[in-house]
Amino acid sequence: MDTEDYRYKGLRKKLVQLLRNRGITDERILEAIGKIPRHRFLDHAFAEWAYKDVAFPIGSDQTISQPYTVAYQTLLLDISPGHKVLEIGTGSGYQATVLSEMGAKVYSIERQAKLFERTEKLLKKLGYGRIRVYLKDGMKGLPRFAPFDRILVTAGARSVPEALTEQLSIGGKLVIPVGPQDHQKMLRITRLSEDEFKTETFENFKFVPLLGGINP
Ligand code: SAH
Repeated sequence: MDTEDYRYKGLRKKLVQLLRNRGITDERILEAIGKIPRHRFLDHAFAEWAYKDVAFPIGSDQTISQPYTVAYQTLLLDISPGHKVLEIGTGSGYQATVLSEMGAKVYSIERQAKLFERTEKLLKKLGYGRIRVYLKDGMKGLPRFAPFDRILVTAGARSVPEALTEQLSIGGKLVIPVGPQDHQKMLRITRLSEDEFKTETFENFKFVPLLGGINP
């Protein structure tokens, strides 16, 4: 490890402590965040920002979610090793690596071609080639690989896309921020049977919008 890596490791430790203080108590989540080089998901010039608890621009008008938000959504998802997980909104790829570190088999969809290409390369470079990424409209889910044990939407939706609830396994959970543009409520929808769903409502967040179609 060179001195720079050593320094980032120290910053990660502080970030983990901050998340612990904010109520994230799942050790597996904290372990993943303590391990993943978040600075590699930002432009080199902004690497310093990687371990602050803030969202950050990653190009194409998009952001890497704030670490607290990543941890919070992951907590609600209740991941077990081996879970088949669909993420909508690959963005920087960071959230996908957290899920992967927790033993999930991750499928992730991004609609912005530029981001998709950059992130696909980065994930391979960082040794996360096992995360499958797709350039698609995530509102439609990924029917070819459904059903999923867990589905995570990392962009703000106006309403819950039906394709996503349809692609949940029985007992499966969908975590999705839903609401108008500037604030969304985090919802967790559990599929109880073929046609019964339970919805729980959690804190407010502010996400970039979930948009339809792909942006080539
Ligand atoms: N999970 C990301 C956060 C990305 S921000 C991370 O860890 O960095 C949300 C992302 O959702 C943006 O990249 C945006 O382009 C993408 N997005 C918005 N609508 C989408 C859709 N319909 N399908 C796929 N991706 C979408």
